[in-house]
Order: sequence, then structure tokens, then C-alpha cells
Amino acid sequence: MTPWAAHVLTLYPEMFPGPLGVSLAGKALGEGRWSLETVNIRTFSDNRYQSVDDTPAGGGAGMVMRADILAAALDSVPRQGRRVIYPTPRGVPLTQSLVRALAEEPGVILLCGRFEGVDQRLIEARGLDEVSLGDFVLSGGEIAALALLDATVRLLPGVLGAPESLAEESFENGLLEYPQYTRPIEFEGLTIPDVLMSGHHARIKAWRHAQSVQLTQHRRPDLWDAYQTRLAVRPPQTH
Ligand code: SAM
Repeated sequence: MTPWAAHVLTLYPEMFPGPLGVSLAGKALGEGRWSLETVNIRTFSDNRYQSVDDTPAGGGAGMVMRADILAAALDSVPRQGRRVIYPTPRGVPLTQSLVRALAEEPGVILLCGRFEGVDQRLIEARGLDEVSLGDFVLSGGEIAALALLDATVRLLPGVLGAPESLAEESFENGLLEYPQYTRPIEFEGLTIPDVLMSGHHARIKAWRHAQSVQLTQHRRPDLWDAYQTRLAVRPPQTH
């Protein structure tokens, strides 16, 4: 089977695999469960200064990455049924459902922006999907690409040691995860909630669900609203 394949187009190929070379993702990379190739955008520059950007049309601060150079870099990569994602603060939020969808696909091509971003015509001409890591501005798309790859690779078959732990994670059922505890039983005067030490599985499950609900209501009213809407449409099965 062909492994899940990632291509990253960047001005800083030395940033990869970076953190993806260690732990779960690194082990899976070594085992050939996924592949990672970088393309240095600068090698597609058409000038002796190796620049890839120019001043913004209409004026203003900063520089914009050129459509023609980025198109040449992108066209050098076989698509193989993969979407091309451009990480940008203007994109749709990166969510667990998007990550899940990506893990089912043949892989992904990521175009990392720098400066003020990329020429809009490239986004339209090559049908890029714009995805945001959150409501803040990074200095480049590389950290967003690393985050997207990390979240996706851990969902690939055989990467997680205990795949059943995925089902309980934050966002998997539309709620944030409940608090976790482990030994020692007492830490700086703080104890583990009694119910977790009771061995009573039904009570533990109910306690965890209540904690998840409380946390989600308090911290993420947007998720809580979506959860309730989904419950109204699709009530949970009781058997
Ligand atoms: N001028 C852009 C704006 O206001 O939307 C910000 C450009 S930022 C300095 C340079 C690059 O970092 C972007 O092209 C994008 O690839 C990446 N980037 C910055 N913030 C990001 C975020 N929240 N999510 C994903 N990518 C981001």
C-alpha cells in the first residue's frame, strides 16, 4: 500500500521534519506509514537574487509571494488526488473533523506562506484550500503545516499504540475531554476524585461525561451549542 504522502512547499525546508521526526510521527515516518518531502520554493525563482516576492499591488507594507513562481513550484509536485492546502489566518479553522477527513485521503500538499502571504490569483488558479490554525498571526505557514501534519498522522492506521484512546479525546464526540489523573494518589495535598478510585465503571463514565459537559459549556460555548444542536437532530442511542 502506498503510504500517506505529504509534500511541503516552503522557503525553509530545514524546518522539516523538525518535531515530526520524533515520537509517534517520527516512528511512523521511519516505519514508512507516511512520507514527507519538501520543495524549496526558492529554487523556482527566476532571478539571480533568488527572490520569490514583490511589492503589493496598490501599495502598502511588506512583500507578496509571486503567483508565477509558486505555480511553477506547485506544478513540480504530482497531485495524486491530494488537496493543496494554504495555511493562512484567513482560512477556515483547522478542526478535528478536517484532520479526520485528511487522514482518509491519499495525503496532502501544503504551501507555506511568508511575508504578507501569496498572490490571490495563485489561490484561485490552483484551487487552494485555505486553512487557519487560529485567530493569531504566525510569521510563516510552516508551524501551521507541522501542526496539521502532526494532528493528521496520529490518526493514520498503526500510528497510535492504543487507537481506542482516540474515541475519548477532545472533539471526537463534540465535547472537550474530562480531566485526567494518575498516581501518586496525593500530590501537594490534592487528591484524585474518589469516584475515579471506586472501580465503578458506570459512575466513572457518568462523572467524566458531566466534567466534559461542564468544561465545554464554560470554555467553549460555540462547541456546546453545536453539540446540543446535533443531539436534537440525532439523540444518543440507549441500546
Ligand atoms: N498578511 C497576512 C494576514 O494578515 O492575513 C498574514 C501573513 S503571515 C505574516 C505569513 C504567513 O504565515 C501566511 O501567509 C500564512 O501562510 C502563515 N500564517 C500566519 N498566521 C497563520 C494562521 N493563523 N494559520 C495558518 N497560517 C498562518
